[in-house]
Amino acid sequence: MENRNKKSQQIASVRKINKSTKRVTVTKLENILYKSFKILDKGFVRVIDYMGDDSSIVQAARVSYGRGTKKLNEDKKLINYLLSHRHSTPFEMNEIKFHIKLPIFVARQWIRHRTANVNEYSARYSILENEFYIPNKQNMQSQTKLNNQGRDKQLDHLETKEYLELINNQANESFEKYKYLLNEDDSGIIRNKNKNGLARELARMVLPLNTYTEWYWKIDLHNLMNFLCLRFDYHAQYEIRVYAEKILEIMKKWVPYTYEAFILHRLENINLSKNGIQYIKNLIHGKENKNTKISRREQDELKEKFGLN
Ligand SMILES: Cc1cc2nc3c(=O)[nH]c(=O)nc-3n(C[C@H](O)[C@H](O)[C@H](O)COP(=O)(O)OP(=O)(O)OC[C@H]3O[C@@H](n4cnc5c(N)ncnc54)[C@H](O)[C@@H]3O)c2cc1C
Repeated sequence: MENRNKKSQQIASVRKINKSTKRVTVTKLENILYKSFKILDKGFVRVIDYMGDDSSIVQAARVSYGRGTKKLNEDKKLINYLLSHRHSTPFEMNEIKFHIKLPIFVARQWIRHRTANVNEYSARYSILENEFYIPNKQNMQSQTKLNNQGRDKQLDHLETKEYLELINNQANESFEKYKYLLNEDDSGIIRNKNKNGLARELARMVLPLNTYTEWYWKIDLHNLMNFLCLRFDYHAQYEIRVYAEKILEIMKKWVPYTYEAFILHRLENINLSKNGIQYIKNLIHGKENKNTKISRREQDELKEKFGLN
């Protein structure tokens, strides 16, 4: 609790500082700079810094001397054109840096996005806090039988209660063992003066995957959009998707024109294979799709997307 108050005070004091600059700034993003947005039960996302706005993308695309803004409408059109034609390098000129707190099993998925710069909280140097992700009851679901990946229906009350208790107990017992190995009690006082305690870098081995970690994560706008395409998608695990949802909201504040173009050309577009195109053609022309080479799942997805159910 004391630690949490200290962190809130640090955020409040840094948010009070105002500096003038010749660089482009975005008022909507300035307003939320350093502010932390709660994700899952104990995680958060907050913006630490950023470079550029929509006009910076236009400026880079035109390699211009000024701010790049001819007319707002032209900028908007150009951004749309760049994004829809995969002319990606102008988007790499913008960067954003986040401070993120997330469970280790989410971090393992997140770290696969290799085009970001990451610096993680060191559990060799510091002692981890007693913070574990415990899912909400409605997120306690069974394994889907559809594709071996993902979840199905919500578990009933009794099963949910039993498993949540098990997850909670497991986390608390693991943390107790962690502190035992460190030879410290909860206030950081040595437990047994006749023992040395195990180094932090080894003691952490007994902690489970739902332990929270923190990192600074910096990425350019082009690669951020790739990240969002993959992690905002409904195929992504709920626990990483909720972070992507918040980051997408932040992107809307930061680069509203790019956000609009991104929704239009990347998030809500459809990628069709040759076989997929043939399948849709057959449906439209009332022909049979008996020998289609696409899977049942893909067929259902396409029908749903084109409203052909
Ligand atoms: C729903 C879902 C399920 C997944 N399941 C699994 C799984 O079961 N097992 C698993 O291991 N992973 C899994 N992944 C991770 C996935 O395979 C990718 O590693 C991850 O999404 C990062 O994508 P990326 O490589 O495009 O991103 P980034 O690493 O950010 O790379 C962006 C782009 O840069 C280029 N690039 C970056 N580094 C290189 C490089 N070294 N060489 C060549 N090109 C490079 C590529 O064009 C790449 O697309 C899953 C991801 C999702 C979204």
